[in-house]
Amino acid sequence: MTSIPELDDLRRFLFLLPRKSNFQFTKETRKQIRKELFCTLSKRTKYINWIFPNLERSIGTNDKLTVLDKELDWSFSKYFKRVLKSRGDTNSHDDRAYHVNLACARIFRKGEPIYRCLTCGYDDTCALCSHCFREEYHVGHKVNINICQRENGGVCDCGDPEAWVRDFVCPYTKYLHNNDDVSMENDGSDGVADGDSLLKSEMPKELQKLLLGVMEILLDYVIDVMTSNDLHFYDFNSTNISTITKYSFYGELDGEKYDTRGMRDVSDGKFALMVYNDQVRHYRDAVQRIRLASKKVKAFATMVTDRLQSYGKAKVLVTENLELLRERQKILSATGLATCIRCLRDVFREEMVDEIVRWICSFTESELFKSNVTTKDLLCQAFCKRWKKGLAQPERIALSTEYIYRTGTLDLKYNIPKIQTTTKESLRKDDHWYHQVERWNLPEKLCQTSEYNTDTTDLQPNTCHLGSRFQYFIYFDIRFWKSIRTVLHDMYSCSVITNLNFKNVLCAQYVDIYPTVADMLLTKDREPETNVMGVLSTQIFTCPSNSTLIVQHHDLSRIFASIYSFLTEERIRTLDDITITHKISIWSLKIRRWCQCFFDVSYILTRSNDFKSIVEYNIIPMACDIIALFQGRPVIIREGKTHVEYESPDYTAFFQNVPVIYLFAENIAHCFSTMKNINKHEQKVLCKNAIMYVVTFLLKLESNNYPGLLDDTIDIDLKVQRNAKRDPRSNELIQEYRIDKEKVSFLHPLHSLLAFLIQFAEFESSFEVKQIIDDTINKMGQTNIPNPTVSIFDYSVRTIVLMSQIKSGFWVRNGFSVRSQLQLYRNTNLRECGYMRDLFLIQVFVNTYEPDFVCNLLFDRWQLLEGWTLKSGGFPIDQNEDAIFPYDHHTLSYILDECLNFFIQLQSEVLYLRGLKENNLNETHIRNELIHNLCFGPMTYSKLCSNIPEHVSMEKRFDLMLQDVSTFSAPTGANDVGMYKLKDEFINEVNPYYFNYTANMKDDVLKLLKHRIMKKTNKTMNKIVIEPNLRNAEELGIYRHIGNYSLSSYFSDFIIKTLLYIVDQGVDKSDNLLETTLHLIHICALERYINTDDDNNTGKTFFANFTRQSDIHGTTIAQLLFNMLDGEAMKDHRAKIRSIFAIFDTKYSNVNNMLLGCISQFDSIKLTDKTNEGDPQKAISRKKRIAKDRQARLMAKFKEQQSLFLKQNQNEIEETSDVEMVEYGDDEGWQFPEPHCLYCQNALDNAGPFGIITYVSKSSEFRKVPFDDPYWFMKAFSDSHNLDNDETTKEEAEDETYSEKWKQYMKWIRESNVMGPGFSSHKHVESKVVSQSCGHGMHFQCYVNFLNTNRNKQQQISRNVPESIEHREFLCPLCKAINNMFIPILWVPNKKSLENFVLPLEATATVNVFEQLGNQDLHEPKWLEKFGSLATKDLEELSQLTATASNMIGQNSKEITTSDQKSFRSMLTNMFQILTLLVFPRVFKADSTLILTNTIKSTEISLRGLGSISCVIDQISNNALLNLRAINEFRNNVLLMKMKNWLSTPAAKADVYMKLLTGLSQLSNKQLPLQVQSADFFEILVNVIPLPSLGFLFNAIFKACFVGHILQVLSILVTKLNTSNSRTDNEHYGLRDIPSMMNSNNGIYTVEVFRRLSEAHGLDHVNADIGAILYTMLIKSVTPFLRRAAILAYVNCADIESLPVFESSQRLEADRLCDILKVPSVAQMLQEFIQPEGDNCYNGTIFNSYVQHLKSRQTVNSNANAMQLELKYELEYPGIVKLIDLPDRLDYFFTNYYYLDRYNNPHTRMENPAICLYCAEVMDVQRTSIGEQEGQCTIHYLKECAGCVGLFLLPKDRTILILTRNGGSFHAAPYLDKHGELPSEMKKSKPLYLMRPRYNDFLRNVWLLHNVVNYVARKLDSVVDAGGWDTL
Ligand SMILES: [Zn+2]
Ligand SMILES: [Zn+2]
Ligand SMILES: [Zn+2]
Ligand SMILES: [Zn+2]
Ligand SMILES: [Zn+2]
Ligand SMILES: [Zn+2]
Repeated sequence: MTSIPELDDLRRFLFLLPRKSNFQFTKETRKQIRKELFCTLSKRTKYINWIFPNLERSIGTNDKLTVLDKELDWSFSKYFKRVLKSRGDTNSHDDRAYHVNLACARIFRKGEPIYRCLTCGYDDTCALCSHCFREEYHVGHKVNINICQRENGGVCDCGDPEAWVRDFVCPYTKYLHNNDDVSMENDGSDGVADGDSLLKSEMPKELQKLLLGVMEILLDYVIDVMTSNDLHFYDFNSTNISTITKYSFYGELDGEKYDTRGMRDVSDGKFALMVYNDQVRHYRDAVQRIRLASKKVKAFATMVTDRLQSYGKAKVLVTENLELLRERQKILSATGLATCIRCLRDVFREEMVDEIVRWICSFTESELFKSNVTTKDLLCQAFCKRWKKGLAQPERIALSTEYIYRTGTLDLKYNIPKIQTTTKESLRKDDHWYHQVERWNLPEKLCQTSEYNTDTTDLQPNTCHLGSRFQYFIYFDIRFWKSIRTVLHDMYSCSVITNLNFKNVLCAQYVDIYPTVADMLLTKDREPETNVMGVLSTQIFTCPSNSTLIVQHHDLSRIFASIYSFLTEERIRTLDDITITHKISIWSLKIRRWCQCFFDVSYILTRSNDFKSIVEYNIIPMACDIIALFQGRPVIIREGKTHVEYESPDYTAFFQNVPVIYLFAENIAHCFSTMKNINKHEQKVLCKNAIMYVVTFLLKLESNNYPGLLDDTIDIDLKVQRNAKRDPRSNELIQEYRIDKEKVSFLHPLHSLLAFLIQFAEFESSFEVKQIIDDTINKMGQTNIPNPTVSIFDYSVRTIVLMSQIKSGFWVRNGFSVRSQLQLYRNTNLRECGYMRDLFLIQVFVNTYEPDFVCNLLFDRWQLLEGWTLKSGGFPIDQNEDAIFPYDHHTLSYILDECLNFFIQLQSEVLYLRGLKENNLNETHIRNELIHNLCFGPMTYSKLCSNIPEHVSMEKRFDLMLQDVSTFSAPTGANDVGMYKLKDEFINEVNPYYFNYTANMKDDVLKLLKHRIMKKTNKTMNKIVIEPNLRNAEELGIYRHIGNYSLSSYFSDFIIKTLLYIVDQGVDKSDNLLETTLHLIHICALERYINTDDDNNTGKTFFANFTRQSDIHGTTIAQLLFNMLDGEAMKDHRAKIRSIFAIFDTKYSNVNNMLLGCISQFDSIKLTDKTNEGDPQKAISRKKRIAKDRQARLMAKFKEQQSLFLKQNQNEIEETSDVEMVEYGDDEGWQFPEPHCLYCQNALDNAGPFGIITYVSKSSEFRKVPFDDPYWFMKAFSDSHNLDNDETTKEEAEDETYSEKWKQYMKWIRESNVMGPGFSSHKHVESKVVSQSCGHGMHFQCYVNFLNTNRNKQQQISRNVPESIEHREFLCPLCKAINNMFIPILWVPNKKSLENFVLPLEATATVNVFEQLGNQDLHEPKWLEKFGSLATKDLEELSQLTATASNMIGQNSKEITTSDQKSFRSMLTNMFQILTLLVFPRVFKADSTLILTNTIKSTEISLRGLGSISCVIDQISNNALLNLRAINEFRNNVLLMKMKNWLSTPAAKADVYMKLLTGLSQLSNKQLPLQVQSADFFEILVNVIPLPSLGFLFNAIFKACFVGHILQVLSILVTKLNTSNSRTDNEHYGLRDIPSMMNSNNGIYTVEVFRRLSEAHGLDHVNADIGAILYTMLIKSVTPFLRRAAILAYVNCADIESLPVFESSQRLEADRLCDILKVPSVAQMLQEFIQPEGDNCYNGTIFNSYVQHLKSRQTVNSNANAMQLELKYELEYPGIVKLIDLPDRLDYFFTNYYYLDRYNNPHTRMENPAICLYCAEVMDVQRTSIGEQEGQCTIHYLKECAGCVGLFLLPKDRTILILTRNGGSFHAAPYLDKHGELPSEMKKSKPLYLMRPRYNDFLRNVWLLHNVVNYVARKLDSVVDAGGWDTL
């Protein structure tokens, strides 16, 4: 059939595959399909190098086809991985980011950053991906970073010429450009080596043909298969068996078209029951239904449901028995699940479709596609052309012969239908809802290549048409299954609709079928969130050329019609079927999906370049119909007498949706201001027409001349006859109306439209506005509206009065909903479109019309015109329900304040009158908002945002404006947050009468401003006047007369009456009211916005009004103000009054004379301030004041520091109140602080044994050095040699040298690991039993009682408790820390001196006590007896039992008498039971030092990296010390007990002595060398009790242990650094790159020691030049040991007063500790080791005997490796123990890991990734808990990882997940946004930055201090009552 035989083969393949595979679709089938497609496309391997350009390079000499088949499975993604691997590329960027001469179009995925440069972008939507954005090209630009919140958040616009107004460089557009000479045609058949250069050449014509052919065949095939896939849209009852067989018949493909010589496309007679996913039904229900229908086990149902959820559809049952299938289908579909039965052939074909689509998509990601414009165009061409049908039956025979439109179906000939018009042609009305069919304005040539738009046949109404493949794909979107839908949408975004050549055609094709696609979204889609519109619309319509095209084709009307009919009739109709009405469907409103269409409209409106076409078309009439649906709704009427019982929630439907309408109105109006290429006059005409239409429309509504108006759905009086009264002063009619009685509403979007139109129209004079309105009214002719002009502005006035009345509590009986409406109207995004529009219209009204007319209307609507006149005896208010005057005294003062503020705002809120252009307007608006909120003082970003409406703070320019007006102080500590402070210069712009301020805020700002002035001018408070903050009149242009109202006598009457009212009520009562009144007068007195030119107002000034005698009140404003200058009560206001008079004085001549005329007893002296500023008395008091201020400031500062300190110590983590420690005094010694039982509150005495509660558990911070892991080996020796140096963010210690290679290696590691690397070598991590304590104490008896009640309590309530009863856990009643043990405190205060404790026997003694040990005959009874008695004496001294304690313990085990003794016994039993549980299978011995040893070690580890003053012991926290001492003393006590036979073990005494002796003999000169292989010398040190009487001082024991430890470390280093399998010399670094201390002379000795040991081990010698490195490694390895020994000594001795103090930074920590512990330094010891024989010193002797010992071993074994194996003891990790490194910005996880091929696309496997903080492995948090299985994370930490608790970072949730045996919890991730705050739910789209102090704080205080369990316990305990932990 075709000239290329391969294409025919492909067709045949597609046709025959189901049959050939026996209708069994497997993984192998998928591979087969891929293979066939590759083979066809490459013309049987001829073009293989084009498709896999880098294959050859990556596989070497292997056969390409074999590799493709066997290894790569013909899969593109496997190929990419192979290529990446072969390159060994560590550059984190994707190869496929390259886009030469093309748009990048990379999709933004959830969690990825979206960069928007507002300087370079065409508008706010233009975005760049992390590849294309390069900071260096946008220096100084306004750049926004947002984190994408959706799975498909649009695409990168880089390379799209329409998106950018400036050029910038993208590094990825340069690829392949390096040499331009290759351009000749190259068919690639002869195997060009370099794939990239091949791609640079032009594509062979044949390959182009092949590509187009393959794509066409595949797309046609997909459409062929999908035509009969819509059965699942029918419910069970509307189908039957014959439908199913018919569908099977219609599904047959045409054997001719598929080139099989007319073969019939049969099925095998089997059918499958299919089920489809939706977003409504629950998982569990689905499992249950599927189980019922399949009659199989639950596991099967779960499996099917899982597939359903992830894949989108699943097979439930396959059989030939259709009856059975129908029966099961009935069960399955009973709860509404979408199901269908299809023949196996079709099911198979759909799976083929799945693979084919995936293949096409992966092809669009390929190198060939990405680098080649031709390829991209060919794909689009295939999409744009019409579908070539390949079905065996060209038509369906339906039940009826006529096709009737049904959502989502095709007509009988498989054409795409249109929404049908039902109105007969003759009946069609002639209105503005019509559409002219015309051809799209597309280039002819393009139309031809796409076979599209050649005539208008397809566009005719009521015709169905054979669509393009693209149209079919879009139309079939809801037929596809979830997983393939997203794949398809991604492909459309990246490769189809963004194609620069075809995007216009594709746009046109999309718009052609828009109404039907919208119909499917609105009424049919089971997965609306996955709908194609969400993806396509945004991208297509934001492109300016597309929008322009649509506008010129007049397609907006079709979209409008879709929206309008859906809102009014709940279904989509054509333009001809539109019925105009004001009725709206609440049901439709609640389906918020229709907003999508509005977004589309607003994109088209705002992006189009042709505003003229928009404006000229009948857009305004249609828009008015749509907008009118929201006009005057919902209606509210004030409840005067009774409270509203039931509040309808329907209003929310309007308020939620109306923002969309407002935005629509604004966008429409905006078109009028942005018309380019059109002369001013023409523009004005269009604008005028629009305004006239809207005004006419409003008047029609007002006169009840519009369809569908109902009395209770609009706030218009629909009565025919309306009453009006004539205002005597202006002679204007005003309709009678009362807000407190009649209908009102907040929403008037038509008025907003009018306001926007007027604002954007740029009139030249206010007269023009009046003219238009008058013209319109005249044109309308006679109506029943009393005064049409009033009716236009009335609604805005009413709304503002309504608002004020609600605020004043006048509407309380109406319940909450009016308040919520008010809130929405004023404080949300409705504010600018609602409230500000109303204010604007009133300003226009005031500006344009006669002052008396205006004021009459205003005061009438405020209901303040009459009814509250001053009579003798005050203001009698005859307020009752029907009276004219509705307010009582209480309400009146509020209403007056509101009204005065309203008049102030008329002149001060002028932002929209200034004629600012869009961006400027927007920025000024944001700036105002910021200034007026930040002026209260520094605040955090979220505090600031909580004060500002969301729509303002969400503006893209918000943060940029914030930078402009404020200074930011970033957080530094672990608990800090960032703060913003207003720059001083902006405070001048603060207006205390800002419209958004509450009364309290206004007062605060007034005070604040006055204080500022006071500081600057030294005036006293009551002399300070806040000047009105008004703009210059010129700025307002034609609106500069908004102050005209002040000329009206109504206004002066009102002011007079208000002043009289204030005086009458008493100034103290109405102080605020007076303040506001005076401010208003002050503003008016400036006379800035008054029209003095107008004929009517000539000579009129506010001054005239000010001095005008009121007819009613017989006084003037001037008189009343003058009167106020007297009397104490007014003293705070006098300054303001004087400044008012002063204004007139400077403005007019002869003011005093004029005032004389109107003010009785006028005295001009009173108008000046007599009090002298320069008064010396004043100066003194000023000085005093200043001094006082300074003092106050100091106090405040002190308090601030104090509270800061408190805050810092009130850490979220460390809630354990650190027990107040009693300082080691002179006599007292250290004792348990406050022996206070927290349970019974009794003192220690006479209540039995007292002790502390502790928690013993396993912990896993104990690491060994993994010598075979290059990174961790290096890292272990890279931290500072002083572990008590403050760990800075710097990686390098100051006094060590780091090689260049080291630096490079570390950098490489950082760059190639997004997070981590983790300490993943589990065999090098040990979990050990440690103890911790919250430090709280109780009696043993109380402890027992507490446990019992606790147990009972828990049995009663079944709940998720944080403690495990069977493990005897309980929460500390005080601090809720978890505990499981009780340790008695039996000792007296500890006053032992540490310095004495560590002293050697004699300073001069060279003979070590251990030298003789071992020579004695241990079995000699006499010696043993002496040993026993001395040991007992020593131990008694050591133990320091209290008298009560020894009494309690008793003297002999056989005589237990007292209850104390009994309970003490039971306590011991209890303890050992618990401990045995923990150390199982080992048996725990009472005197075991296991816990003490481990706890000291872990304490030491937790202190690494913390700065110390002198040495490690001053860093230990009180709690840790308390705990350690308790364990230590208890160990001593138990030993003593055993020794004295207090414990009833047989032969206890002898046992104890033997033990003591064995311990000591380990350290004898003979034994010590043998211990080196396996002993833990620190354990020995803890274990061996010093027996000073026998000469075994602590110092002697320690010396022996220390030399043993050093020998051990040396041996390990010698063997590890030498052996052949060592990884220390590798490709990245060598041994010489290990950091070392500079200027160390000790290297010489070290090398010599190494040499001797190497020899002894039988190993090679080390090089002499690495001595310094070896010495440094040795020092680092032994420092922890020394630190631990120091801690041990401190635990034993509380008195450290006489301890030497060092400056920590000056000397080596190891040397300092050696000094403290009175042993030779390491360097000294090394020297002693190699002293010549005979220079007999202890260390030398030991060393030599160790060497001897090794040599003798060597001769026995004669195998070098044997020695190494014998070294059982591994080197403990000497560096700072940490959790994994985290990325600097959280989104790097997504861009550099989660979405990368390199890591095998983790996002496809893990929905919610969780990073293990130990090993950096990434898990998937299973959100939906299926069955009882544990989640991946739980399994990981319990079984796979080394941690004893689970710590995971969840990047998507931005938290740390903590899992423990007892439950889990979340902890804030150590990330802050750029505002220095923790991420909140609200600001999800902000990028997050790693805050290291926070992370360090977490890992030290939560992890290393074993507070993880406590954290979880406390969290759980606090929510236990709420039903437990519901989040996992
Ligand atoms: Zn990009
Ligand atoms: Zn780019
Ligand atoms: Zn830029
Ligand atoms: Zn007690
Ligand atoms: Zn506690
Ligand atoms: Zn792990």
